[in-house]
Amino acid sequence: MTHLKSLFKDYEGMSAAERVAHRSLSRGGISSVIWVVTERCNLKCIHCYEGGRNTPEISTEDAFRIIEKLNDAGKPLTFISGGEPLLRDDIMLILGKLKDLGFRVILSTNGTLVNEEVATKLADLGIDNVAIPLYGPQQFHDYFTGTPISHDRVIRALELLSDAGVSLTIKTVVARSVLRNLDYILEVASRFGAKAVYLCDFIPIGRGRLLKDEIVSRDEWRNLLNRFIDEMILGDKYPEIELDIGLHPSAAVYVMEELRRRGYDVSEAENKMKRRRLSVEGRGFVSISPTGDVLLSNYLPIKLGNIVREDLRLEDVVKNPLYRAVGDSSMLKGRCGSCEYRELCGGSRVKAYVYGNDLLGEDPTCLKQ
Ligand code: SF4
Repeated sequence: MTHLKSLFKDYEGMSAAERVAHRSLSRGGISSVIWVVTERCNLKCIHCYEGGRNTPEISTEDAFRIIEKLNDAGKPLTFISGGEPLLRDDIMLILGKLKDLGFRVILSTNGTLVNEEVATKLADLGIDNVAIPLYGPQQFHDYFTGTPISHDRVIRALELLSDAGVSLTIKTVVARSVLRNLDYILEVASRFGAKAVYLCDFIPIGRGRLLKDEIVSRDEWRNLLNRFIDEMILGDKYPEIELDIGLHPSAAVYVMEELRRRGYDVSEAENKMKRRRLSVEGRGFVSISPTGDVLLSNYLPIKLGNIVREDLRLEDVVKNPLYRAVGDSSMLKGRCGSCEYRELCGGSRVKAYVYGNDLLGEDPTCLKQ
């Protein structure tokens, strides 16, 4: 997650979340967690990295044990994700317990199960942000999710949540066909007062392994970032919307170098990046699977232990030799290993593994010129 406006502009949109993450990270512990509470889903998105997996789920009681362990680890910023989390019967109990303990909670849902009752409940619980995917106008979105009327349900969910006063993020994937819909996605985000648009780079894994033509090239990524620089970083289009880039840490390096090339002082952004490496794997981030496995990333099958079945504390995960190696920029190889930005950026460890089968290898999608 890279908040471009927070880095390069005096922008406060998502800074509360970042402050929580920084506080926890400065204690040397876990700062953010993506907890996949279920892999069940009612959509069939053609790009889904989980690809319709359906591993068994832990009980409510065990979910509460995980929450206690997250609490002991210092209440990391917690993303509740899936699958579709609202398919769990006990999801409101899980969210309620997290909020009762004072967690900052972001719920990632496909939006199709949000009705008036759900929207009111999420508002009453004080969920800090609800992130909902949108891939384009009705016909395209329904094609991309493999599910008719999913677009209309997303728009309805956005209406209900925004009326209930819930803070929103629109998520999308940076795939070739989706990029053509970017204006529409930004317009919808603005219409419903979304705080951020999260743009996650497409990786051809899971169901998406057949979509290699959807991979966005370096030049296409650079063009996209140039547009963001002109319109939303230097310009003032959509002033209320933060741009959050996923799975592409060198995007911020590209923006920094481009602004510097244009004569802007980027020292403040550089200092911010020095405080927390953009590549989060091995740096205060873990994912938790539906069975309680603690993973290096929700995109990778690399297990660090099980938080339900084993006497494992999250604080101990950061001492795992593999975890430490991935977080140690001096261990990186190839272009990332010799890069002057390896401490700030670190390259996508997920893409180094997916494309090169080496967690410490170079990020083959690097955008640095
Ligand atoms: S070479 Fe690696 S560390 Fe350097 S900017 Fe590119 S992705 Fe980041």
